[in-house]
Amino acid sequence: MTLTMFAPAAPATGALLPIYRRAPVEFVRGRGVELFDADGNAYLDFVSGIAVNALGYDDAGVAAAMREAMASGLLHVSNLYHTAPGRQLADALAERSFASSVFFCNSGAEANEGAFKFARRWAGTVGGSGKREIVGLRGSFHGRLFASLAATDRPAYRAPFRPLAGGVTIAERDIEELAAMLDAETVAALILEPVQGEGGVRVLDSGFLREVRALTRERRIALIFDEVQCGLGRTGRLFAHQGTGVEPDLMTLAKPLAAGLPMGAVLLNHEIADSVKPGDHATTFGGGPFVASVALHVIERLSDPALLSTVRDNGAWLGQQLSLLIGRTGRVRAVRGVGYIWGADVHIPAGEIVARSLERGLLLCTAGEYTVRLLPPLIATRDDLGRGLAILEDVLSA
Ligand code: PLP
Repeated sequence: MTLTMFAPAAPATGALLPIYRRAPVEFVRGRGVELFDADGNAYLDFVSGIAVNALGYDDAGVAAAMREAMASGLLHVSNLYHTAPGRQLADALAERSFASSVFFCNSGAEANEGAFKFARRWAGTVGGSGKREIVGLRGSFHGRLFASLAATDRPAYRAPFRPLAGGVTIAERDIEELAAMLDAETVAALILEPVQGEGGVRVLDSGFLREVRALTRERRIALIFDEVQCGLGRTGRLFAHQGTGVEPDLMTLAKPLAAGLPMGAVLLNHEIADSVKPGDHATTFGGGPFVASVALHVIERLSDPALLSTVRDNGAWLGQQLSLLIGRTGRVRAVRGVGYIWGADVHIPAGEIVARSLERGLLLCTAGEYTVRLLPPLIATRDDLGRGLAILEDVLSA
């Protein structure tokens, strides 16, 4: 195949707070698995808006769901009143999972903050007032708000903003250390990502998860799975943990839930839901009729067994092809992943590979300094994956 070389010019940021290190490209249009700049250059998207655009761009079903939702005239009415779409969405998530109840919010970090509150509320009922601690794992990312940041193992993100929320600590991904740290009297919850995304794409071992489950159950500690990035089809299962045989007590979702509209969710098991009282937590926008209608469509699409099995098969193939790059290019040290979430450890800063791939029309992102992350839309075909791999190999070999 011929590889195009683009030389994108950095667009101005105007009054936008320059808090993001944006790539030097401005997109004006998207379709399927591709984004386009104003000059009509196409970029194959292996980022998906950071694991958001599972259905790609310009999806006809999403557009129809939006039009239908608009027809009622109800974008938002607040949680002071009942509306049907939020209830239907909660039912759809509960039917497909371990959960009996669902709380809606607006982002992944918010979902985790909500889960911490629900876990503490429940822990207070099964333990004493001293059962408050939240434990996160080495390599974790749970968001940038004060409690979610406290559970996030990224020193550079944390240091300038101390003090973070108290009562949150980080443990090694080691069952012995967890056994020593998870004190039944003081620990309310353990949070983990079944596949750590930002922390370098690390698929946690099912055996480890089973041991964690046994420990937390025995000590009455709420087990929270953060599936904000790895959930909703990305691993080839609707929920990542469904591939492990281990169920959490609470689960958080966000990113692809409403096709790019901001939405997060906390799924609660029966016992924890029963401990939550009216007024314990709230958010103005959470689960509004418009966003919930769109999310209902997304959930139905992402539950499709054919889509999920294609993600599993193509994902296994993608992993094999990436592994071949270790020997073929000599520039990849290791690859890790499952389904449509993969990380490749590279020999130079991953940001350089990302920048060079952009010039050749392939969007990638990083997961730590030396890991390139691939997050193709779940609609990407094997041919799309092959096209991206060819560009990546060319960049690595250059
Ligand atoms: N949890 C995980 C696993 C994530 O990957 C992210 C974002 O990347 C978050 C939480 C935070 O989500 P948000 O950026 O929507 O607050």
